[in-house]
Amino acid sequence: MAPNTTVPTVALNNGIEIPQLGFGVFQVPDAETAAAVTSALEAGYRSIDTAAIYGNESGVGTALANSGIAREELFVTTKLWNADQGYDATLRAFDDSLAKLGLEYVDMYLIHWPTPARDLYKDTWKAIERLVADGRVRAAGVSNFQPDHLKRLIDGAEVVPAVNQVELHPGLQQNELRATHAELGIATEAWSPLAQGAVLKDEAVTAIAGRHGKSPAQVVLRWHLQLGNIVIPKSVTPLRIRQNLDVFDFTLTEDEMTTIAGLDRDLRTGPHPDQLN
Ligand code: NDP
Repeated sequence: MAPNTTVPTVALNNGIEIPQLGFGVFQVPDAETAAAVTSALEAGYRSIDTAAIYGNESGVGTALANSGIAREELFVTTKLWNADQGYDATLRAFDDSLAKLGLEYVDMYLIHWPTPARDLYKDTWKAIERLVADGRVRAAGVSNFQPDHLKRLIDGAEVVPAVNQVELHPGLQQNELRATHAELGIATEAWSPLAQGAVLKDEAVTAIAGRHGKSPAQVVLRWHLQLGNIVIPKSVTPLRIRQNLDVFDFTLTEDEMTTIAGLDRDLRTGPHPDQLN
């Protein structure tokens, strides 16, 4: 399949553009990551989402280096793990991630979880602001931040997070958080956009898929895109990797968007951010 060049970009609050659809590698063992990322790059993905805690930044780096794709065409995101929060620890952890990725800068660096009881995210953010000033991080963001964490982080900060990457799918639509993001100029990035498969058998989704001649996963990804979310579906299956990118040739109707809005049910595949410390 020829590379799909039709992935639109979202302009972040610092002017940097991120592809609206990227590729996630959570739970992919390092030894299998290069193959999965290579499949994704061949299919046409240019945005890759990893994290220090996934243990597969080396595999991502290998695939990027072997791809022959120009660095400026790629958008690479990694995340700072909870145990490395704090000013000095963040700078050390960042160096380690960059070395594993084999890169000179990352496009986006995220605080993985707020871990509110540890109360280190303000210091951590100062270190990330320094990495931005040094040109080693193009866009700084957060993940799993609740509205109160976001407001506290921004208070007195030099940089407003470009994105908040949160669990978001038809079973957990995060409408309140999305409204806070809009108010603060933060882009919404959806993790587990397919709810790790848990929403793909919903009757409403399969019926809409049948009508469009698309798969349930494609319908769910299309729903995200039409809401304006950035999405990073994960798959290690080449057919699904290609399928998840093939979502730019159909449009859900307003009625179909409303039907999917009705599937919101507080379904979580991961922990609640207030409870992970
Ligand atoms: P997803 O919602 O992307 O679902 C992945 C699962 O769905 C896999 O089991 C995959 O199977 C399956 N799948 C993928 N495509 C299809 C398809 N077309 N049809 C049927 N099944 C499909 O879950 P993730 O939790 O992986 O989330 C995506 C990314 O978000 C992660 O990889 C990671 O980058 C990020 N993330 C971030 C978190 C954070 O705290 N910031 C937390 C969790 C995820 P298979 O691989 O076998 O094909």
